[in-house]
Amino acid sequence: MSTLDRYYNYIDGAWVGAESYLAVDDPATGEIYAEIAEADIHDADAAMAAARRCVDSGALSAVRPALRVTWLLAIAEEIRALTEQAARVLCRENGKALEAARGEFEESARYFEYYAGMADKIEGTSIPLGDDYVDFTSYEPMGVSVQIVPWNFPPSICARSLAPALAAGNAVVIKSPEISPLAMTFLMTACERAGLPRGAVNLLCGNGSVVGAHLVRHVEANQIVFTGSVPTGQRILRDAAERATPSVMELGGKSAAIVHADADIEQVIDSVRNGIFFNAGQVCSAMSRLLVHRSRYDEVVERARSLAEGLSIGAGIDEPDLTPLVSKSQLEQVEAMCRRAIESGASCVTGGERVSGTNGYFMQPTLLTDVTVDSEIFQEEVFGPVLVIHPFDDEDEAVALANGTAFGLVAGVFDENLNRALRTARRLRGGQVFINEWFAGGVETPFGGVGLSGFGREKGQEALYSYVQTRNIAIRLKGV
Ligand code: NAD
Repeated sequence: MSTLDRYYNYIDGAWVGAESYLAVDDPATGEIYAEIAEADIHDADAAMAAARRCVDSGALSAVRPALRVTWLLAIAEEIRALTEQAARVLCRENGKALEAARGEFEESARYFEYYAGMADKIEGTSIPLGDDYVDFTSYEPMGVSVQIVPWNFPPSICARSLAPALAAGNAVVIKSPEISPLAMTFLMTACERAGLPRGAVNLLCGNGSVVGAHLVRHVEANQIVFTGSVPTGQRILRDAAERATPSVMELGGKSAAIVHADADIEQVIDSVRNGIFFNAGQVCSAMSRLLVHRSRYDEVVERARSLAEGLSIGAGIDEPDLTPLVSKSQLEQVEAMCRRAIESGASCVTGGERVSGTNGYFMQPTLLTDVTVDSEIFQEEVFGPVLVIHPFDDEDEAVALANGTAFGLVAGVFDENLNRALRTARRLRGGQVFINEWFAGGVETPFGGVGLSGFGREKGQEALYSYVQTRNIAIRLKGV
């Protein structure tokens, strides 16, 4: 019998083991300390069948919506009750800071509260066709929603899609990431304790290209919500095309902040700290490029260097400024991208390689300058604590540089001149533009991309409508 902490899949209202278990390590030490049941395609079939039964029974969709409000509020309360325990699990398996892990569960609870507030307000419209007709629309659930989650913020990304899906009356089958899958199980515990109907939520941890692909291609899948990398998203879209299954795609980014000549540099540096070093830069909407007006360029590079070199680095439990990357392979990829950039002429202001003398997956906070705009490091997502800083001479050039990648997730503008800031913001390509604070917004603000960053929106009121389909009923009246 294994001595590791053991976690299970959640299918049809029960915790389910497996023949094989996936090992989970601690990114701060490299030590394997837990394992989770590895779902196979039979588990996937069982989860899809359970979700289908739940949909067909009307247990979620045919009830008075006020009942869904009650369930969602109860889930939020249960998440808060579990937060301390769950955050410690997330901190250890993912490497992130304990306070950030607590924040992730608080955000998860907020998603359920926020969409609880909408669950009984999903109202259709009445369409006038003259006295001979009554015509109205209603928003119907999609049915079974397959949701595939990445490893960087597993609970909050899961809650972001799960809460609106349940609010709208869908049953959900979730595929957790193979890396950092443990803390998500606490969301299932919260759903179980809140008394959700059997089969309404199901959670599987399994190989992406086997179990994930099986779910995506499944005949019972009525919707796919994917958050993850571009290549996987493209693969899923090809598979979804087989049955024309509607999809929401939240993919990667290479987001730029523009620092105009009149920017408040304190604000800029605060946002650099959060924008690229929070979660060790493993954030799809990270500020990975900083475009600075030439008149402030040297000052910003110097201030950013002093910030980066002053960051404490350590295990998440010790609340350092910079935590480890999630896995050894992630560390190797980030380090290799920095090496290639430096070999092709970039100047490394600070960092550029892993932290030596540890078995943990620590990358040094890294600033790169003198990069060419068509280089890999300027164009491609790194997903680590690596910031490219680049000068510009005028607004047109700044906008062209910011918009000059295949991505379009978020962007930012720093400027005390709000007229110019807003004008620049309107020219930027992306689903969300921050002015004077990176990551401004919250569960209330719609989020999503254009181009290779994907399509569809999560968060905010708008996201709820990704989880419904419109039905129109037209009635011909007689003798009125
Ligand atoms: P990934 O694409 O490797 O994996 C994401 C999920 O997809 C995992 O659960 C994986 O098992 C599954 N998967 C893999 N192959 C599959 C297949 N063929 N069919 C179905 N599922 C499959 O991404 P990752 O490395 O876990 O996450 C990092 C990426 O996610 C980054 O590119 C990041 O930008 C992106 N991301 C985007 C957002 C957003 O909201 N836009 C948020 C977080 C992360």
